[in-house]
Amino acid sequence: MAIKPLVYVVEDEEAISFLLSYNLEKAGFQVVTLQNGEEALLHIAEKTPDIILLDWMLPKLSGIELCRRIKGSDKTKSIPLIMLTARSEEQDKILGLNLGADDYIVKPFSINELLARVKALLRRANPPLLAEQLSYEKLVLHKHENWVKHGDIQLHLGPIEFKLLQFLLTKPKNVYSREQILNAIWGHDVFIDERTIDVHIGRLRKIINKDFKTHYIRTVRGRGYSFVGDE
Ligand code: CA
Repeated sequence: MAIKPLVYVVEDEEAISFLLSYNLEKAGFQVVTLQNGEEALLHIAEKTPDIILLDWMLPKLSGIELCRRIKGSDKTKSIPLIMLTARSEEQDKILGLNLGADDYIVKPFSINELLARVKALLRRANPPLLAEQLSYEKLVLHKHENWVKHGDIQLHLGPIEFKLLQFLLTKPKNVYSREQILNAIWGHDVFIDERTIDVHIGRLRKIINKDFKTHYIRTVRGRGYSFVGDE
């Protein structure tokens, strides 16, 4: 089972929120719906989504203020963000783009257009995220057909190892902490000892390095793991 791209939908109108999550899930995304800006900030701090759909008219913290905070923080400014506006909110649209929103969609919108915009933005921001296959040298992972090969040789990975490899291969040079890996593979509602990650990394290394004289997955002392080093 592949990891799906994670979308946060921040929208207080239930009907629109439902429409969005239903269609995004059908299109292969994992969706978290959030009712207001404060809830959104809490979730973003806990787990970084791959993309945010943000409604402009929200109770308490406005969409504009939320956009300002997300795009004003080094930790979150690179998260792709699409704002949803009503036609009358021309000024908000301009303000939003000035604040760093990556795209906007005017309500009422067609769901196909919205999906196309989401995919286009994700492809720009993080190309491997929507790719069917991920590869590094001779190693290839197919997300939807669920297989991993080294050259012509099929490798047999357990479900956790498959997700781990997908996660690491998405940005092979990125160094991930054990906590980031844990959140990506198991989600943050599950209690898993961080040493469990070392066990699964060990198993994955054994499978993908075995007989191929390669040394994928680097331990970075005090920081975590990356698929390959910078050198
Ligand atoms: Ca609203």
